[in-house]
Amino acid sequence: MSKTSKRTSKKTGSKTGSKTSSKTSSKTSSKTSSKTSTTQTHEFQAETRQVLRLVIHSLYSNKEIFLRELISNASDALDQLRFVAIQDDSIYAGDSELRIEIEIDEKAGTLTVRDNGIGMNREEVMENIGTIAKSGTREFLDRLSGDQKADAQIIGQFGVGFYSAFIVADKVTLLSRKAGDAVDEGVRWESDGGGEFSIETTDRATHGTEVTLHVKKAEKEFLSKWTIRSLVSRYSDHIGFPIRMPAEAQDGDTPWEDVNQASALWTLPKKEISDEEYQSFYKHLTHDLEDARCWAHNKVEGSQCYTTLLYVPTTAPMDLMLQRDERTGLRLYVKRVFIMDAAQSLLPHYLRFIRGVVDSSDLPLNVSRELLQENELLAKIRSAMIRRCLNMIGKIAKDDPEQYEKFFEQFGAVLKEGVAEDFTNRDRIAPLLRFASTHEKGSDACVSLDLYKERMQEGQDVIYFITAENHQAASNSPHLEVFRKNGIEVLLMSDRVDEWMMAYFTEFDGTAFKSVAKGEIDLGALQSTDSDSPQEEGDTKASEEAAQTLDADLLKKIHDNLTDQVSEVRTSQRLTDSASCLVLGEQEMALHLQKLLEQAGQAVPGSRPVLELNADHPLVQLLQESEGDEAFSELSLMLYEQALLSEGGSLSDPAGFVRRVNKLMLKV
Ligand code: ADP
Repeated sequence: MSKTSKRTSKKTGSKTGSKTSSKTSSKTSSKTSSKTSTTQTHEFQAETRQVLRLVIHSLYSNKEIFLRELISNASDALDQLRFVAIQDDSIYAGDSELRIEIEIDEKAGTLTVRDNGIGMNREEVMENIGTIAKSGTREFLDRLSGDQKADAQIIGQFGVGFYSAFIVADKVTLLSRKAGDAVDEGVRWESDGGGEFSIETTDRATHGTEVTLHVKKAEKEFLSKWTIRSLVSRYSDHIGFPIRMPAEAQDGDTPWEDVNQASALWTLPKKEISDEEYQSFYKHLTHDLEDARCWAHNKVEGSQCYTTLLYVPTTAPMDLMLQRDERTGLRLYVKRVFIMDAAQSLLPHYLRFIRGVVDSSDLPLNVSRELLQENELLAKIRSAMIRRCLNMIGKIAKDDPEQYEKFFEQFGAVLKEGVAEDFTNRDRIAPLLRFASTHEKGSDACVSLDLYKERMQEGQDVIYFITAENHQAASNSPHLEVFRKNGIEVLLMSDRVDEWMMAYFTEFDGTAFKSVAKGEIDLGALQSTDSDSPQEEGDTKASEEAAQTLDADLLKKIHDNLTDQVSEVRTSQRLTDSASCLVLGEQEMALHLQKLLEQAGQAVPGSRPVLELNADHPLVQLLQESEGDEAFSELSLMLYEQALLSEGGSLSDPAGFVRRVNKLMLKV
């Protein structure tokens, strides 16, 4: 029996099990012949194997999470069945008492988690359980450092789900049947978590899924009823379904007893819920290993009744910037019945990091995704939720600035999108933003716009900022020189979203923004002529001298050499140390962004910047004194090129630049 390695698409859902025989190598068990009892053995793809190995090793100190993961999956499956049954309750096939059962067989060394939920057919098992290669698996693997603790955190965010069973089991058997399918359409999946898994079609009397862990010898504690009961009440007390375990046998018949509260957490009064319960519910909902950073739980009663329980995670998932997925852990319930994962309908894109539950008493149970988009009730819930989220975030900012800095590090760039996307709430979002600044050490974003305004100099009427490719480029930009010299604070922006955001952000609390790299700068009375300024460095004559202007003929002559590159050459009011800089028009896109677009193969609106020269700089003086047209044109070009470089731009002729620099160096 030959077996070749299997390659599956990276994206979950792009392959279906029973049709994979051409792509999937399989061996057909010789003991079976009929279609229904065919056993196929498949190899996990290489990445899956790698993830499995990592999960088993890195999550060792968190091994009990497997139970939470399996219970979460079971509870999702029950939610889904209940949802389908809204339309047609015959799907229950007489088994409508939704529940999760946990059974231990000490002799056999097994632990079983069973649900009578939606179940899976063979294709779904192949798709969902047969591969772990979710989109982003490769990136996930690349991010692992080898440091167990750090890696465990990343793995937690990635969401290991079902595979966590292999932390404590050396073999896992899954039996399932999709609700509505025939008895002989059950499926049996089994794997030892090594290289392969087997799958076969089998008879199964009931719908739903049963996962049996063959517990490793060293993990025998998970065969203790007491341990499992206490884990259930710790992790899954307030999921909305009963979890049952067999009570002591009486006369042969095993009675089941509930081991959790089975009351959906958000339905309880706030004061009855401990922080620990909020946290374990968060983990149930999101599969996050880390605690949530904070949450807000609100019950609204009045013309509309609904409850929201919203969480801010501690760490951003790695695909946060790309996430366009509904399945992010923001769930819509109607009268406690799970309706759908509906992150996009419930909150705007810039709040995509929020997790939680919305339970409405007024929406119809059969609301469809399309209807959600236009539903007026939901529109109201949505706008109230946005405010609630922003308030919750604002509360961290107010109560614990240090914690807020950490929050902002994770989610700040996403929140900034709100400035552009959500005009109605712009004034609520703006005070939540933080920026690095010339008045602070380091690259941490810690200055709020309110603080900036408080620190503005007398007579200053705009908020100055610069955008650049990275913090260093922003912080070292020649455009900042005159501001540093005069102790005027400039916000340093280096998130990718910043340039885009600033196109929408014209003012904050009545004060306009002004890019120090665009348009003319007139500091007027703000320009100091003495050395009292707090940021003053070097000699004080510079600012007076900078007021000199270069001769118009000279500027024209330089421009004649650079007509392809710049639209104008003028004397700079910005520079005190550097020789030259490039200045864009007020509406033009920053050079680093132009470069990025160019690299992405997009057309960039052609604009030529202004070249500004520092009249006081020795290089500019050298230019004035240079003899011969060739020397003059080379020096002019170099002043342009160095301005472009310090702006993060790329030279069209780098080798020529090097040649010119070398020539100058040899002269020294
Ligand atoms: P996640 O739950 O994060 O998607 P899992 O690896 O835990 O990842 O599960 C993968 C998929 O397998 C689930 O999304 C679900 O479609 C399916 N699944 C897992 N357990 C069950 C179950 N008990 N009943 C029905 N489907 C399940």
